[in-house]
This record gives sequence, structure tokens and C-alpha cells, in this order.
Amino acid sequence: MKTLVFLEHHEGVLQKDSLGVLSKAVSLGGEVEAVVLGQGVEELAAGAGRFGATRVHVMDDVLLAAPLPQPRVDALETLVGEGGFDTVLFAASVLSADVAAGLAARLGAGLNYDLTDLVVEDGQLVGKRPALGDSVYVDAGWTSEPRLALVRSGTFEPSETGGSPDVQAYESRFQDFSLAATMVEQAHEEAEGPSIEDAEVIVAGGRGLGGPEGFAQVEELAKALGGAVAATRAVVDAGWYPYAAQVGQTGKTVSPKLYVAVGISGAIQHKVGMQSSALIVAINKDPNAPIFEYADFGVVGDLNEIVPKLTELVRQRRAA
Ligand SMILES: Cc1cc2nc3c(=O)[nH]c(=O)nc-3n(C[C@H](O)[C@H](O)[C@H](O)COP(=O)(O)OP(=O)(O)OC[C@H]3O[C@@H](n4cnc5c(N)ncnc54)[C@H](O)[C@@H]3O)c2cc1C
Repeated sequence: MKTLVFLEHHEGVLQKDSLGVLSKAVSLGGEVEAVVLGQGVEELAAGAGRFGATRVHVMDDVLLAAPLPQPRVDALETLVGEGGFDTVLFAASVLSADVAAGLAARLGAGLNYDLTDLVVEDGQLVGKRPALGDSVYVDAGWTSEPRLALVRSGTFEPSETGGSPDVQAYESRFQDFSLAATMVEQAHEEAEGPSIEDAEVIVAGGRGLGGPEGFAQVEELAKALGGAVAATRAVVDAGWYPYAAQVGQTGKTVSPKLYVAVGISGAIQHKVGMQSSALIVAINKDPNAPIFEYADFGVVGDLNEIVPKLTELVRQRRAA
């Protein structure tokens, strides 16, 4: 197997999910190389060696400065063809999904998406994908090479193995149509504290909060714990909290050290986004709520009484 991992980066930082996919690829064996596309990205490429890539291909070009997919499709088409890769892996993101889909079309290759695991069975790469509302896992294979795969965000943790890679610069032509789109503006979302993808502690709120004002106590608890705030789809759909905070099947997948679920029933579609958290604490007034079936600690009671007390206790402990 000769695998190429697409390393996405933003503002000079390689994305954690991409490094997680690289680490997984290394653990599967075979030749594993990576690619970094952008402008002024050579140093980033060297950093990828710590995660096990023996060789990192770099295409440094002003036309790759903006995070646009089509020029990246051109650059990858060249590299996959010249490098003889049989497998190309991506960590799913808005950009990577566009790039992977474009590359699949360009190469006439099969792309399996939303994978939550990759294994080698009888010498063949097999992807695992949740299906039927994430209630079952199906095996996803490829009938031809190169095999393209998009891995669900938050699936694999990066693991540092050390090493400095052979960094190789390469060049590619761009198609005229690939340069038709230009980036006009890039705006940053105002945010305080860690994002839910990176947070070690998450306090998530659900419909049990009773309304958007209920999130104030969730935010207070998250602040006391130094964590981020997440939400269920029910409250996002109701407009109580922004979509960026949604955890679950149609939201983000997170795996913090601590996940506190406040007023959340624990539906399967929510569970799939947070079940890999190291410790799950649930606060719910219904002792039969499904979340108690997989929470490590459960508190049965009214969140309006419990959450403020818990926040106060955390503050006292932190101050002591
Ligand atoms: C295709 C599909 C995709 C979906 N994707 C997602 C997804 O990505 N993420 C997601 O979260 N959901 C998703 N859903 C929705 C999911 O099925 C549930 O409807 C949703 O997760 C429920 O949200 P909730 O727990 O906030 O609300 P509810 O299910 O209404 O639960 C509220 C909980 O709060 C408790 N409660 C009420 N008052 C209090 C109180 N005072 N104190 C303590 N506890 C209290 C109740 O006992 C209850 O358990 C999806 C559904 C479908 C069909």
C-alpha cells in the first residue's frame, strides 16, 4: 500500500484531524507520505515528520495561498499520478471534502466518505462507515485504485512518533477553470475560549434548558471548567444556540476528556458525536433518559438547581 495523506492547514497550523489520519495511516503500515499545499508552507511540511510521514511533498505557490479547492485538485492530480499512490486519505472538512470530491471526479476514482475507522483485512483496505442513523457500521471497500477516503472529523488522535521527513518540493500546472474562483474575503467568527473540536472539557446543553436564556448557566459552568459550550440539534434547530456548536450525526464529532451533558436526552444521533469522550457526566431529571445508559456519572435532578451549585463548587475548588 502506498498512501498519501492530504494535510490541511490554516493560519500556519496543520489541522489536528489531518494529523490524526496521518497517524492512523502510519499504524496501518506500508509507505506513508503526506502532502502540504499552500504558500510559505515548507516548515509545516517538516513538522509532519513527527507524525510518521517518511516523505512530505510540498507545493508552494501563490495560487495555493487561498483555501480554494480546485487548484488543490490540480496539484493532487499531478502528485498522485507521478507518485504512484494507491490510496489517498483526507480528514473531512469543508475544504477537504471539496478537494476529495474534485479529485475523485478527475481521476475517475472511488471515494468513500464519513469513515470512522480504517482497517486492513486480508491485505485489503476497508473503511468502516456508520449507517442507518449511525445505528450500524458497514464495511466500505473500493473496486479500483487509487482509493480515496474522507474520514469523519474527530475520529483519530494524532500520535507523535518522531522523525524528520524527506521534504520534496514539486510543481504542477493549473487548469484555467481551476483559477476562475478567487477568494474575496475571509472573516473570522468571534469566539471566546477553545473551540469544541479542541476543547478538553465540553459542557453541552439540550432542550432541558428550557430556552436560549438557559445557556447562560451552561456557559458559566464551561467557563469555570475552562471548557467550551456545545449543543444538541434540537436546540440549534430552535435557534437557541449557533450551529457551529452542534454535536452529533449532523454536527461535529468531539472527544474531550470530560463531556458534561445538561438537559440532554442522549438520542443516538447525539451519542455518535460524543461517545468517544473519556468521561461523560449527565444531568437530567428523567432517570430513564437514554443518556444514563452510557454516561459514566449521572445526576438525576433539576438542572436549574444542580448546575449553579456545581459551577459554584468548581469555582471554589479552583480558587483554593
Ligand atoms: C437524521 C437526524 C440527524 C440528527 N442529528 C443530530 C445531531 O447531530 N445532534 C443531535 O444532538 N441530535 C440530532 N438529531 C436529533 C436527535 O434525534 C434528538 O432529537 C436530539 O438530540 C434531542 O435533543 P435534546 O436532548 O436537546 O432534547 P430532548 O430529546 O427533548 O431531551 C431533553 C432532555 O432534557 C431533560 N430535561 C428537561 N427539563 C429538565 C430539567 N429542568 N432538568 C434536567 N433535565 C431536564 C428531559 O428529561 C430530556 O431528557 C438528529 C435526528 C435525525 C433524525
